[in-house]
Amino acid sequence: MRRRLSLISTIIISIILGFIILGSVTGYVIFFRSNKHSLLQAYEYLDSITRLISQDVSSLLEEKIRLLTLTREEFFDGSISENLLENLSNLFDRGIMYIDENGIVKKAYSRYEFELMGKDVSNREYFIQTRKTLKPYVSEVFKAITGRDVMVITVPVIKNNSFKGLIAGCTDLRNQKIGYLISSSRFYKTGRITVIDYKGTVLFSEDPTEIGKIFTQFPLYRAGHREIKINGKDYIVEVKSIPDTRWMIVASIEKEDILNYSYQNLRFGVMLFIPIFIAILILLILLLRKLLSYLKILRDISIEYAKGNYSKDIHTPPFREINDIIDALQVMGREIREREEKIKEEQSYLSTLLLEMGEGVFILNQDKKFEFVNERLTEMLGYTKDEITRFNPIEIFAPGYRERISKIYSEGERHRERAELVSKDGRSIPVLCSVSPINLNSSITGYLSVVTDLTEIEEREKELQSALEEIKALNEELTTRSQQLEIALARLDMKLFEVERAKENAEKLAIIDPLTGLFNRRYLEEKFSNELIKAKAYNSYVSVVMADIDHFKRINDTYGHKVGDEVLKNLALIFRANIREDDTVARYGGEEFVIILHNVDKYDAYEIAERIRGEIEETSFEEIGIPEKVTVSFGISSFPEDGEELTDLLIKADQALYQAKSLGRNRVEVYTKPSESIHF
Ligand code: GH3
Ligand code: MG
Ligand code: MG
Repeated sequence: MRRRLSLISTIIISIILGFIILGSVTGYVIFFRSNKHSLLQAYEYLDSITRLISQDVSSLLEEKIRLLTLTREEFFDGSISENLLENLSNLFDRGIMYIDENGIVKKAYSRYEFELMGKDVSNREYFIQTRKTLKPYVSEVFKAITGRDVMVITVPVIKNNSFKGLIAGCTDLRNQKIGYLISSSRFYKTGRITVIDYKGTVLFSEDPTEIGKIFTQFPLYRAGHREIKINGKDYIVEVKSIPDTRWMIVASIEKEDILNYSYQNLRFGVMLFIPIFIAILILLILLLRKLLSYLKILRDISIEYAKGNYSKDIHTPPFREINDIIDALQVMGREIREREEKIKEEQSYLSTLLLEMGEGVFILNQDKKFEFVNERLTEMLGYTKDEITRFNPIEIFAPGYRERISKIYSEGERHRERAELVSKDGRSIPVLCSVSPINLNSSITGYLSVVTDLTEIEEREKELQSALEEIKALNEELTTRSQQLEIALARLDMKLFEVERAKENAEKLAIIDPLTGLFNRRYLEEKFSNELIKAKAYNSYVSVVMADIDHFKRINDTYGHKVGDEVLKNLALIFRANIREDDTVARYGGEEFVIILHNVDKYDAYEIAERIRGEIEETSFEEIGIPEKVTVSFGISSFPEDGEELTDLLIKADQALYQAKSLGRNRVEVYTKPSESIHF
């Protein structure tokens, strides 16, 4: 495994790297800016120094020109005083000359030059320029006969607007104030001032040889500043022209000279930075070591807590953060202790439960080996705990169940199955076996198995079974008995029905005439009185028709009593066919019939009786052996006009019948009071 980085060394390395990067960047920026600043300062310095010197040189020359201008008339006239000449000679130490318009030296006042007189200088630059411009002119420097560097200042002489020559003052440069000025103008280590003319000839210089090389390489007569390289060295150069002359001032300095300050600063900075850096680093390392020691303490405390030792003495460290962590650890420790106690308590409940419970309990580990076995299981099987745990758990089951139980354990799901265990003495114990996999972080870490002894239950079951069978047998018997009872009841029912029918028949016989099937006299009278009550209540009619067969005695006598009976039956059929449902026909006597017509008045009763009479008259009785006609006579009485009582109405109907008989038979007569006589 890759070794992990130490936090402390990472912090230290990061800080060192940070310091180095920060220091480098800062140093570089400071150095760069300081360089730039130094260069700018140098440029400014060069500019101001050249300006100053230029002004100085300019004013010196101006003074000389002014003096020559003031005295040029006197020189020309030759009237110049000795005294003035003496003074001028100090200024123009190489002499003063008058040169005529043709360039011939006409007068010369000189300490050193004796051969100037009569010399032709018309080809000299100063002569040509002065004549051309008619203005004062400062000449280039040239070597005098004496070998000295000499320059000439000229002013023109103009008389009557014509050029009359010029006055020329000559000076040795070295003796000039300018020379002193230049030679005293030193700055930095390598700073130099040089004065040159337009040709590049060095007029004044501290180091003419060296700077001269510059002029050969570069056109310095262009004013301004620039950087140049000579012999591998960088120079900064400022060139400025001097007014009224063709001279230039050149200020030069080695770049390194300027930058030296920056380098010095940088060195100083670095020297200052390194010890500070080292000091900070040491301080940091010390602090981090201290921190590390406290981290170790924290680690030790954590390990002790993890081991369950909460009594470790902790001395208070000076750092607040570490203190906070220790406080948190202590809180954590207390929490863990409380939880542990709670778990222990729960565990003791649980183990008591497992030991005391009526079921056999065993736990298998991941490899399906015994991990725990409770007392009850050892009691059930008759083995000691040690003996059981040496078994392969499958072997405590009866051989017929082993394959199934192994399958249950390999499936990793909850199961509840009937099975059999085998005890030490070879007895089979019927059990209900529940298997539950123990899941921890979604992987099975073991199996909890509970076996319930079913021996007693099975015995009970058997008892129950036989009891059930008994009940079944009883039930069957009961069913048979009840079926028999049902049959008996049905028969009884039938008997009752028959009795009922017989009773009905008997009742019917009491009101029915057996020969004709018509109601008998008893029923008729009952019915008639009911009809009368209704008719009185509803104020309706009731008519009574009484019929008597004509000469029936003779029919009997002629054709026999049996034929007579047949006649009676046939007439009964005719009567019944000719009345409505509400009407009643009865055999009133031997060969007498009475019809009660419901709600029929006397007129309608007559019509009905007449129709019946006609039908009988028309009926042939030959079939029963009577060739002659059979006729019937009718007598009618009606409620309410003929009477309100049954007897009364029957008597009156009989009287009407008697009337029909006496009037010749086969006719219908209605009852009339003796005084009335109605004919329909
Ligand atoms: P009439 O026209 O005047 O009525 O003459 P009739 O012969 O019918 O006279 P009567 O009423 O006196 O005679 C009744 C006869 O009816 C007497 C009897 O022989 C006969 N008779 C009565 N009951 C029965 C019966 O049940 N069957 C038969 N065959 N004859 C009966
Ligand atoms: Mg009769
Ligand atoms: Mg009769």
